[in-house]
Amino acid sequence: MHRRLIVPSALAASLLLAIPASAADYSPGAPGIGDPYYPASGNGGYDVSHYDLRLKYQPATDLLEGTATIIATTTQNLSRFNLDLGLRASEVRVNGKKARFTATGDHELEVTPAAPLAKNRAISVVVRYAGKPSELKIGGWTAWHRTPDGGVAAQEPDSAVWWFPSNDHPLDKATFDVSVSVPDGTQAISNGVLTSQSSRLGWTRFNWRSDKPQATYLATLAVGTFDITTDKTDKGLPVLNAYSKDLGGNAGAARASIERTAEVAEWLEEVFGPYPFNALGGYVPNVTSGYALETQTRPFYSPRQFANGANVSVVVHELAHQWYGDSVSVDGWKDIWINEGFARYSQWLWSEKEGEGTAQELADYVYAQHPADDPFWTVKPGDPGPDKQFDLAVYDRGALALQALRNEIGDEDFFAVLKGWPAEHAYGNARVADFVKYAERVSGKPLAGLFDTWLYDPSRPAAPAAAKARTPRSQAAAPTAPAAKPAQPKSWKKIAATNTIHDHGHGHGHGH
Ligand SMILES: [Zn+2]
Repeated sequence: MHRRLIVPSALAASLLLAIPASAADYSPGAPGIGDPYYPASGNGGYDVSHYDLRLKYQPATDLLEGTATIIATTTQNLSRFNLDLGLRASEVRVNGKKARFTATGDHELEVTPAAPLAKNRAISVVVRYAGKPSELKIGGWTAWHRTPDGGVAAQEPDSAVWWFPSNDHPLDKATFDVSVSVPDGTQAISNGVLTSQSSRLGWTRFNWRSDKPQATYLATLAVGTFDITTDKTDKGLPVLNAYSKDLGGNAGAARASIERTAEVAEWLEEVFGPYPFNALGGYVPNVTSGYALETQTRPFYSPRQFANGANVSVVVHELAHQWYGDSVSVDGWKDIWINEGFARYSQWLWSEKEGEGTAQELADYVYAQHPADDPFWTVKPGDPGPDKQFDLAVYDRGALALQALRNEIGDEDFFAVLKGWPAEHAYGNARVADFVKYAERVSGKPLAGLFDTWLYDPSRPAAPAAAKARTPRSQAAAPTAPAAKPAQPKSWKKIAATNTIHDHGHGHGHGH
């Protein structure tokens, strides 16, 4: 597969020091980053540190035009490399020079630079591109929400290919500057801080900055007409919330939930440690979907989340992800439990704080709800498989695992683990196995058996997470029958109403 390279002499002279090895040592970067769940996601051969996206979007036609400047470092000698992009590229430059490029597969853009790229070098890649995101379907499915007044990109595990070229996998996180020009009277929402906004010749440009590493699926874009509220937290972080002017009967309940963002984050800081990012907020566009997503610094909420009134529990869930999922990201998508188990458990802790049912009562209730023959117990939260990645069991059984851990190691060590983990892996990636080791280190107890039972055995554990803790220590080893019918905790309905938050309509089987 090694290509022979013909290097023009002038170039050869300038690259003489950069290319000590023979051209045969240069090879194409892999078309996927190596995630067994999604083999085509991401790419090999380089690591991105920054995306600069300069976009123009026409709500009337859904036309998105962009120039992406990508700052990266090569991790191998590259003859060519891939980006992930579903829209059509018109020009690609690498280190300022025009590069050849071909679109392949569902969303691969193969880029062949004018000169091969040596390992461990800083590179810049500029991609000019355009297209109507709503026309892009992959496996018959789209991550783009076309709304009456614009469009929205917010999806998991992938959405980036609908609006910018990237190394589209959480393993390659980067900082973002997103600048979006839209017609006057329309707003463009993205992640982080709105650093400036200016209007000229009928177009308004919004400049957003997210200055901590951010996974590509956590980058978001929403164009439409919004009511925007701004504030500052006690610590001086800017809070910006955006509500579509088109929320109808859900408008009040949406605000009554999301305006509590700073309060919820302050409480989460007590549990998880300092808030990891430069801004806070949330936004509710006029989409028809039902889910919510932890887009970094500014979660996405579907209006339907508020169809039955205010629901602070969904805000708790998405903000908990800022620590568990966004700052500490999955290493591979099999590690989804380190996001969802904890975000769900934070809803249980909020319920406990609000006096609407303790985490223990919620755990008992969940356990009793699913009899042994319920397929719920066949899902392994520690490695659920791509089809079950967002199964209810990843959330509820995932939270049961944490209650089991709490009972095993006691509150002091348990809350030390919850607070220590986001600091241990801040802005990085981690595996489920890393968490097991970390909890063992903090507690000094062997925990592999406990996590096997709750995260990996495809059957119902013999006793609820509660059994041991409810029993006096001397009887702890005695088998305990599950409680007959635990009462439904007060918070149950609000928490269950968030079960659709990751119902992303992923019947699309991922053609990539
Ligand atoms: Zn979640």
